[in-house]
Amino acid sequence: MTQSTTALIDLHTHTTASDGSCRPAEVVAAAKAAGLAAVAITDHDTTAGLDEALAAGRELGLEVIPGVEISVNGGPTGSMHVLGLFVDHHRPDFAQAMERLQEARAQRNPQIAQKLQEMGVAVTMDMVRAHAGGGLVGRAHFAQALVELGAVANRQEAFGRYLARGKPAYVEKYRLECDQAMALLRAAGGVPVLAHPGLLKQPPTALEALLRQLASMGLEGLEAHYSEHDELLTKRLQAMAGKLGLIVTGGSDFHGAAKPDIRLGTGLGLLRTPASLLEPLRRRRDRIRALAAQ
Ligand code: AMP
Ligand code: ZN
Ligand code: FE
Ligand code: FE
Repeated sequence: MTQSTTALIDLHTHTTASDGSCRPAEVVAAAKAAGLAAVAITDHDTTAGLDEALAAGRELGLEVIPGVEISVNGGPTGSMHVLGLFVDHHRPDFAQAMERLQEARAQRNPQIAQKLQEMGVAVTMDMVRAHAGGGLVGRAHFAQALVELGAVANRQEAFGRYLARGKPAYVEKYRLECDQAMALLRAAGGVPVLAHPGLLKQPPTALEALLRQLASMGLEGLEAHYSEHDELLTKRLQAMAGKLGLIVTGGSDFHGAAKPDIRLGTGLGLLRTPASLLEPLRRRRDRIRALAAQ
């Protein structure tokens, strides 16, 4: 079978609920139009887009996997992203944990605004909120506001000059510890997967040591297929996952116009995440739920 006839999926996407530019239903419609066999919605720190996406999936006859992407402390750069796939987002404990993450952002955002103002950038929280369109507010929306103000030429420059870690308007974000995040996701029936491991830029031995540690905390999978992973890296990650008993997932990290180079499903053009990865993912979900029910 050639690749073009293999059904494809995308297990990493963002909507207006966080810093994507398409509404949840629009992402689902775009996934259907692109011929994908399933799409996961994985907004940063929020599940507010999931009900709309799930409803759109039912209407269009497309499998929508409810997910989330959360930042955790640890790893070589101090923070890593963990995807939770198949989370039962209405469970009260889980919903409360998401609310705590959002409250932490609500405290952080005015501090970012203040730092920018102190540097003479006339940005207000209202301007930033306008870019968030009612969804969660993050640095991506600050970047848009800075572009609109003419303080920077583009979003990259906004991060490079002000917002990136180590730059003058950076404010540390509250994050869960790795073990807390794994436990939280698993308690919500979700499968914890390390997002974009290639972005950690670790040599194989260091990455393997890190993955073993995360696996002992409840990590189940590795996002081997990713927009910014080349073929060689993807193969290496697949092999490492196999060796460590982890499953493999894949996704584009679609953000719509907020990251215009990244296409749903195909990423920067070469991404191919086969639908055959869904069965192992579902088996992990079922096992997590069976263990929780004991
Ligand atoms: P936050 O969760 O508010 O800290 O914002 C994180 C989001 O900002 C990421 O998911 C990206 O969408 C975006 N972001 C972070 N660093 C950069 C960067 N250097 N360039 C462009 N976008 C970035
Ligand atoms: Zn984002
Ligand atoms: Fe991420
Ligand atoms: Fe992401």
